[in-house]
Amino acid sequence: MSSDKIYDLIGVGVGPFNLSMAALLDDHSEVDALFFEQRSSFDWHPGMLIEGTKMQVPFIADLVTMANPKSHYSFLNYINEHGRMYPFYFLQRLDIPRREYNDYCQWVAAQLSSCQFGTKVESVRYIEDNETYFEVLVVDTDTGERNGFKSKHILLGTGSVPVMPASFNQLPKEDVFHTAQFKENIHRCRKAESITVIGSGQSAAETFRELLNEQREHNFRLDWITRSPGFASMEESKLSLEHFSPDYVNYFYQLPQSKKDEVFATQGLYYKGISTHTVTDIYDLLYEYSVGGENPNVGLQVLTEVNGITKKPGSKGYEIACTHHQEGSSFTHETEVVIAATGYKPYVPDFVKSLEGIIEWDEKGRYKVEADYRIRKIKMADNEIYVHSGISHSHGVGSTNLGLAVHRNKVIINHLLKRDVYPIPDQNVFQSFKPKK
Ligand SMILES: Cc1cc2nc3c(=O)[nH]c(=O)nc-3n(C[C@H](O)[C@H](O)[C@H](O)COP(=O)(O)OP(=O)(O)OC[C@H]3O[C@@H](n4cnc5c(N)ncnc54)[C@H](O)[C@@H]3O)c2cc1C
Repeated sequence: MSSDKIYDLIGVGVGPFNLSMAALLDDHSEVDALFFEQRSSFDWHPGMLIEGTKMQVPFIADLVTMANPKSHYSFLNYINEHGRMYPFYFLQRLDIPRREYNDYCQWVAAQLSSCQFGTKVESVRYIEDNETYFEVLVVDTDTGERNGFKSKHILLGTGSVPVMPASFNQLPKEDVFHTAQFKENIHRCRKAESITVIGSGQSAAETFRELLNEQREHNFRLDWITRSPGFASMEESKLSLEHFSPDYVNYFYQLPQSKKDEVFATQGLYYKGISTHTVTDIYDLLYEYSVGGENPNVGLQVLTEVNGITKKPGSKGYEIACTHHQEGSSFTHETEVVIAATGYKPYVPDFVKSLEGIIEWDEKGRYKVEADYRIRKIKMADNEIYVHSGISHSHGVGSTNLGLAVHRNKVIINHLLKRDVYPIPDQNVFQSFKPKK
């Protein structure tokens, strides 16, 4: 089925970034928008919704507050409508549980008819007829039925996908899996004699902490291996957090691309390290387990590159080939379950490549992005592809941070409506990133 109606905006993917757009557009009935999400309902990184994990941004970075604190879709209104005002007040925390953030987003998504779930965008084609528009082919993930939709503009909010070394992917998924599948595999972990977590970011630490909590009950050996020189903490001081501001985005954006690539490569600790409270929890548990001279059945191994994993012949376990990259020595580590905390990469669907006739790419195969989050086009046309995803190379370290999503949506809505619906102040933080004039 295809309709002749031309929407103003079609969003691909409903993670927090596009859900924020859908919630903000609810106040702008002049924009006719639809958002398609392949999942059957909103679910935010479900494999890592571990009890006790907290958001790494204050709840003020909800879906709407930074654009419109009076919005019906604010986190505080969610709390109010769920009769939780006093418990939340006495909780006295800005960093809400991750499970509650997901529940809040589900509450918002359920109220927005513009968000359609169980619908995967298969292709997007640019049509130049009497009118110009994008033709979006959507498949119903339940029935397989395909429908075509037309839209003046597109907004990509396809997020990221887990990354695993290719050699890990060949092994049984119940034994060797990514942290993104941690919760669905927790029962497997409980039955294992030994478990090894590889990597040293926040997901690795949260997985290790959860397993450490359970270790005494289930009696497995627990190892943690990283190639990094240490289990480094994320840089979370208040002045460092100012790198996740519109001011820093503006500063970073105007740097030459070669400088951006150089700077971004040095900023890992702003987003890749471990939250101090998680390291503290882990250390405190290790200390507790070692009381009375007991030896916690745990190994923490730094400076160690994992080169590959093979099934150990005649056993239910695996051999991990490791190299200590300062000493240069090699060794083998045996384990029954491997959890790869090897990160995520931006997900740019293949159909974006099929739009190559209108998109400008850089020499590294990345689309070029305007300051206001429109993909740069080769030819002049009124139709825009706005992007939330895959913009770290152009807009920097804050691109995947929830604290900048609403700002980005404000900029996009201003462009879409061709007026300053949302004023964007120049100065938002105390420090200057640009040289003094
Ligand atoms: C475990 C974890 C915890 C995090 N915690 C924080 C935090 O506390 N604070 C913070 O600032 N950042 C955090 N982040 C980083 C970031 O905020 C999240 O990655 C966030 O989910 C990004 O939102 P998104 O909307 O871009 O993408 P996603 O949440 O990845 O959503 C993208 C959606 O697009 C859908 N999709 C993709 N392709 C299609 C298609 N063709 N058709 C239809 N649907 C499609 C996917 O199914 C998916 O649901 C975290 C990341 C992870 C992995």
